[in-house]
Amino acid sequence: MKVIKFGGTSVGSAARIKGLLDIIDPNARKIVVLSAVAGTTNALVEIAAAYTNGDKAKAEQDIEALRAHYNTLIAELFSTEEGRYNGNELINYHFDLIASFSNQLFTPIEEKIILAQGELISTSLFHFYLTEIGVRSKLLPALDFMKIDEDNEPKIDFIRENINELLLQSSDHNFFITQGYICRNSFGEIDNLRRGGSDYTASLIGAAIGAEEIQIWTDIDGMHNNDPRIVKDTKPIASLSFDEAAELAYFGAKILHPQSVFPAQRYNVPVRILNTMAPQASGTLISREGAAKGIVRSVAAKDGIVAIRIQSSRMLLAYGFLRRVFEVFERYKTPIDMITTSEVAISLTIDDTRYLADIEKELKDFGTVAIDLNQTIVCVVGDFGPNTHGYASRVLDAVKHIPVRMISYGGSNYNISLLLQTEHKVEALRSLHNRLF
Ligand code: ADP
Ligand code: ASP
Ligand code: MG
Repeated sequence: MKVIKFGGTSVGSAARIKGLLDIIDPNARKIVVLSAVAGTTNALVEIAAAYTNGDKAKAEQDIEALRAHYNTLIAELFSTEEGRYNGNELINYHFDLIASFSNQLFTPIEEKIILAQGELISTSLFHFYLTEIGVRSKLLPALDFMKIDEDNEPKIDFIRENINELLLQSSDHNFFITQGYICRNSFGEIDNLRRGGSDYTASLIGAAIGAEEIQIWTDIDGMHNNDPRIVKDTKPIASLSFDEAAELAYFGAKILHPQSVFPAQRYNVPVRILNTMAPQASGTLISREGAAKGIVRSVAAKDGIVAIRIQSSRMLLAYGFLRRVFEVFERYKTPIDMITTSEVAISLTIDDTRYLADIEKELKDFGTVAIDLNQTIVCVVGDFGPNTHGYASRVLDAVKHIPVRMISYGGSNYNISLLLQTEHKVEALRSLHNRLF
């Protein structure tokens, strides 16, 4: 069975939703994972922000604008009276729910309910459309099987057990549809897998059912060798290893959710990134065997990074010291991305700044603490194993005119990371592109 995920632009209009049937093999058994219609989640974020700020008028205005957008979509998507009726009922149900929060205390719980509406709408619309044209499909409610624990980590055993049970109950179906992005948390509340999370859903489902392949259909022909929003003349990469793809996703390649490679990797399910606008293009295949020897594969960048330096005149790197520093981050459940050390100082980076003030306070017990905001990690992925040479100098030469705050090399065989001020990111990506490809 394949898991086939379509992103927001791939379901961005009535024509695109209808076009999905040109891509999906009608005979094969598959689970189709859908994102919200393009722009919807951003609009829902705005609506929730208006409620949080107590600006009911803005919330109402945004809700009506989004509702109008869907009314047009429904008029274009359905051609029968019954189809339009079902579509309108659906839209009214979801938008009335969103509007009902105007009379309630608005907390992060209500916010997450609002954010979930986009995927609930897109999947039902697709299901109704298929019904209208006589294609049999079954909706699998993601809220019945997609679950995260108290640390926001997916509960893979729960997911496996429950989705397999649902599939078993519908063994006479071969066309399943489910929502990307949304899930339940450890309290049973509606939650989500963070922005871009539909990729993660697809990967988790693929891992849970032992899928033959996970397909990520998007608006570009695969993982490119640099960020196409910033750099001209980027090129798609035909194949990547799980490790390479995981580094790129984690360090900012927006095409894949940061965590989305790990489940597929762990259960060895190949991931293919494909272009809905050019379905014939071969895209990128991510698999165990996908690495390429002796070349640089791609460059990615992750913004919103904070660098922390702890400097001490004492024997800073005496044994036990790093553990005590890391324990501070562990206590605040804050992951560290990059680390560099010297005899008297250690620098590291985080991107979750929720507990920054507390962390800083505790680190001051060890020495002087300096914090730099607005940093970006630029990550170069390639074959940088122990027997290779020359890559570090090529990378550093490309950024020789840019101030670099940290350099990380040798942590893995396929990553060179640099930390620089975000204002220099664009120049760094372009210069690296010119020198490396
Ligand atoms: P979807 O809505 O289908 O999930 P996304 O917008 O999340 O699509 O991801 C696709 C976009 O990712 C592309 O349009 C492109 O602008 C951006 N992107 C950033 N880095 C890369 C990269 N290295 N390769 C390809 N696309 C990238
Ligand atoms: N709709 C969600 C978002 O916009 C999830 C996704 O598209 O992957 O972030
Ligand atoms: Mg995405």
